[in-house]
Amino acid sequence: MEKKEMLFEGSSKRVYATDRESLLLLDFKDDFLDHNGAKKTRIPGKGEINADIAGFLFQYLENYHVPTHFIERNSGSELLVRKLKMIPIEVVVHNVVSAKLAQRFRLDEGQHLDFPIVEYYLKAPRLGSPQINETHAMALGYAKADDMRAMGRLASKANAILKSLFDRRGLLLVEFILEFGSAGDHVCIGDEITPDNCRIWDKRKNRKLDRERFLQDLGGAEKAYRELCDRLTRAM
Ligand code: ADP
Repeated sequence: MEKKEMLFEGSSKRVYATDRESLLLLDFKDDFLDHNGAKKTRIPGKGEINADIAGFLFQYLENYHVPTHFIERNSGSELLVRKLKMIPIEVVVHNVVSAKLAQRFRLDEGQHLDFPIVEYYLKAPRLGSPQINETHAMALGYAKADDMRAMGRLASKANAILKSLFDRRGLLLVEFILEFGSAGDHVCIGDEITPDNCRIWDKRKNRKLDRERFLQDLGGAEKAYRELCDRLTRAM
């Protein structure tokens, strides 16, 4: 498989074409950007750690028959994935009240939810990425009813599987974001599952092991990412 031209550069990854029309290479960057892209920093090695974590978690989900775009972990900071027609909706799953959810609903950060909250956001930064529901998605043509059902079902299944894996590693899967896409008529999980787009805490100390370390100036982001990767990927 040969790496071809760069197709897109986003905030956390570069996307490359390959000599196989149906496959892409995702190259995870070392950069951190804040919510509005104003603050930027570089953590050497972050891209490689994120590729390790995403590759491991996608393979883990595949083992439980949750379809993802993952093909294989390439060298460096790259993953080889199936090219998808992306659905422009982010699915956010909350298990525990994060700082942002606490602020929105005047709750205590860290409160465990009785059952997961699943939210949908339109991936449209120029519109401020508004929260939407199934009827917006279908009426405005962002996704078909079948796709919305598949996304909800796969997000809940992935959550149950990952929550239990994290729990066995002494970790709390507070919140995560999924993106989906279709290959033919088949919807699967795409993009990334990494500490850049998940909230993950150490279960006993509630210590944050994710991008919040950077956003809240807590320090030690590189060490936290490495620790998370080691704890997740160590032999079962
Ligand atoms: P963004 O700043 O848009 O979040 P990223 O840095 O995450 O961008 O760049 C990755 C881009 O590639 C995203 O737009 C994402 O939707 C897209 N993408 C992820 N996985 C796939 C895939 N399997 N096929 C096609 N596009 C994908």
